[in-house]
Amino acid sequence: MKKLLLMFFFIGHIVMADELPDLGSYTDNIITAVEEDKISKQILYEVNQSSSVIHDVEIEDYLATLGNSLLVKTSIANRHIEFFILNDSTINAFAMLGGVVGVHTGLFLAANSESELAGVLAHEISHITQKHLPRIIASQQRDSYKTALGMALAILVSRSNPQLAGGAMQAVSASAVQNTLDFTRGHEQEADREGIKLLDRAGFDVRGPINFFRTMQNASQFSDGAAPAFLRTHPITSDRISDIEDRIKEYPYKQRVDSDNFYYVKGKLRAFLEEKTSIINLLKENIKNKTFINESGEHFALAYAYYRNNQINEAGQELDFLIKSKPNNPMLINLEATLLIKKGSLQEATDLYLKGLLMFPTYRAFVYGLADHYISVKYNSMAIDLLQKYLLLYPKDPNLYELMAKAYANLGKILLQHENLAEAFYYRYNLREAISLMDLAVRSRDGNFYEKSRVEARLKELQREEMLFKKSLN
Ligand SMILES: [Zn+2]
Repeated sequence: MKKLLLMFFFIGHIVMADELPDLGSYTDNIITAVEEDKISKQILYEVNQSSSVIHDVEIEDYLATLGNSLLVKTSIANRHIEFFILNDSTINAFAMLGGVVGVHTGLFLAANSESELAGVLAHEISHITQKHLPRIIASQQRDSYKTALGMALAILVSRSNPQLAGGAMQAVSASAVQNTLDFTRGHEQEADREGIKLLDRAGFDVRGPINFFRTMQNASQFSDGAAPAFLRTHPITSDRISDIEDRIKEYPYKQRVDSDNFYYVKGKLRAFLEEKTSIINLLKENIKNKTFINESGEHFALAYAYYRNNQINEAGQELDFLIKSKPNNPMLINLEATLLIKKGSLQEATDLYLKGLLMFPTYRAFVYGLADHYISVKYNSMAIDLLQKYLLLYPKDPNLYELMAKAYANLGKILLQHENLAEAFYYRYNLREAISLMDLAVRSRDGNFYEKSRVEARLKELQREEMLFKKSLN
């Protein structure tokens, strides 16, 4: 029955894809905030399980900062939106039910300016502020949260790559998934218009989206005429382009200087995604012939490519070149500390991380790097002190808990090790694994009275959450 309902949904949507949405009939309570939160957790669980998701705190934080600089200028400024990057060379991005926005590495690398990338994010965020996904689901018959969840995951699959929604896709038939769940033309136009207003409010160049369309058109010429995936899931018609062009005429020309980190993040992605020696050769050629959009970005990519290829001295030379002109960039400091550790200059690396944290007290890459370094040289208590301090600032950061678990493991503190590992799984949305680890913490033979009662209470809390989740599926 569920499958049939879903099939009906897919077919139904395609038939009515060209109709403008009836905005008046939409009511907020079709999917409740609680349901959307559960869907969000399920999607983020799948995302966290996927090996194609990029886990690099500097890259993740860059995207989240850029996304949040737009989000704060919307009507949903207080809502949490989760941004993530998927290792996929196709040019695509997508917004999900539950406030999740994914960007492919291919799109990130194709964007020639920060305003182009921000333009895509503003468009996706606008799909969320305008509640387009709940509207798609609301326009269909739906009798339970499970059906909505199935739809949400089907949308995840159709908008992104199929590996993303592994086990939870069982309920949805394969043939149904193959059909794309495109937004309607009305949705696209609304997201374009709202996106442009949002770009302007956040101080970006409103020409970003038009420039990015051109970038995509160029990209499709180079890839055997295959349209980038973004064009498939957000079809661009000539109507849409002329509508955008009309609208941006209203705005005065605004020159916006891209941040160094935009080019550095792109550089880091290139250095790690491409084949090691060929990217080194390509970057050297580009620098020699001055064929680049941003010179610093090219040197930064080369520094990381050398680092990856264990050419530490060469990496250092590239980095020195960059530091000379702008010494206080956190991404440069982080790479410098990484190189110092690789060279065995441990004290210098520690000093540099500490200096970095004084300048940029919330920069998580320094915290991870320093804690990891403390743990590797057996300064476990120092690692724990540092991590505890940062857990006050980032209480939902799974990486901090994971590092904490490592330090406690070194000290032979079993209860605390399992407790922290359980929290790491919990904040990666893996409730089942969190419960079994918290159970191990409860059953460990060490730990004082206070610690024992804390993990017992937390286990009960996690079990209650699981029970409520299971209940909502029926
Ligand atoms: Zn769209």
